[in-house]
Amino acid sequence: MLSILPMKTWKIAILAASILSGCLFSSADNVKNPINYSINQETLVNEAFQNVSQDHLSSVITKLSSYANRSAYTQLGIDSFDWIVDHWKELTKNRTDVEITRFTHTLYKQPTIILTIKGSDPVLQNEIIILSAHGDTINNDTNDVNAVAPGADDNASGVATISEILRRLVELDYKPQRTIQFIVYAAEEPTSDRASYELTRWYRQNNKNVVGVMNYDQTNYKTGPYDIVLIGDYTSVEQNAFIGNLIDTYLKVPWTTQNCGYQCSDHAAWNIEGYPASLAFESYLEGENPNIHTHKDTFHTMNNSTEHSVLFVKLGLAFAIELDK
Ligand SMILES: [Zn+2]
Repeated sequence: MLSILPMKTWKIAILAASILSGCLFSSADNVKNPINYSINQETLVNEAFQNVSQDHLSSVITKLSSYANRSAYTQLGIDSFDWIVDHWKELTKNRTDVEITRFTHTLYKQPTIILTIKGSDPVLQNEIIILSAHGDTINNDTNDVNAVAPGADDNASGVATISEILRRLVELDYKPQRTIQFIVYAAEEPTSDRASYELTRWYRQNNKNVVGVMNYDQTNYKTGPYDIVLIGDYTSVEQNAFIGNLIDTYLKVPWTTQNCGYQCSDHAAWNIEGYPASLAFESYLEGENPNIHTHKDTFHTMNNSTEHSVLFVKLGLAFAIELDK
């Protein structure tokens, strides 16, 4: 995530689209259980909300920000991603329907990590729901890729958020009908040659049927009047409306929509390939965490608390469960 351009509010347009769109079919020939944006899984979603672990969120943020950096250009950027793979293996060690792969990139040695929970339904398993976050860091005070860049908020918080969503789904012994993937992108910070563009091109070229992407890039720094900001550009209007409804139904916290004005994170790569993607952001863009992209982006400068990220864990659980039904 980078700095921002002027704000624009799209909430009214999104609500109108929500009313008009109703049920959205992921593919015309799949009548078995079409993707729709209705909300009716309250019992299961509320059960999933129990026992969201701030200790787990803290431990992932603390561990990842303990690397001097996670740059896409350094060995630490590879070592820290290896830790994520090991951690996810440990979280899912008792599952036989989980696979973890590294997607290799042309421009970077840092791989993108993909954990797949294979859908249990023989037809619906071809439809993929994605929860994602980038794992690399940058220090913009210097051109030195070895500079200290702990990236606790940007974006250890996003990686921690999807790790806790994974941990809760496993704890619930949740067996999805559709395939659910958890992705940690390599190299988001080099904005001109992001790794995610290569990744999403592969999904398109291989005819992967991605039915929804929830991307997180900074979830733990709260400021300003809104707890959650949905980015309005390079995202899906219909899916954003669905997510707004999820917030109103399950979280009941203030939210709004703002535009970045440019392709400000990895959601854009999915959007460009025609897949429905959204970015749920931690704060009003004008109040963005001033410490990102510096050596000061630490857990300490977020008061050693993961309270704000809990909202994004819950939102992701609701998103996955309601899309999978
Ligand atoms: Zn970021």
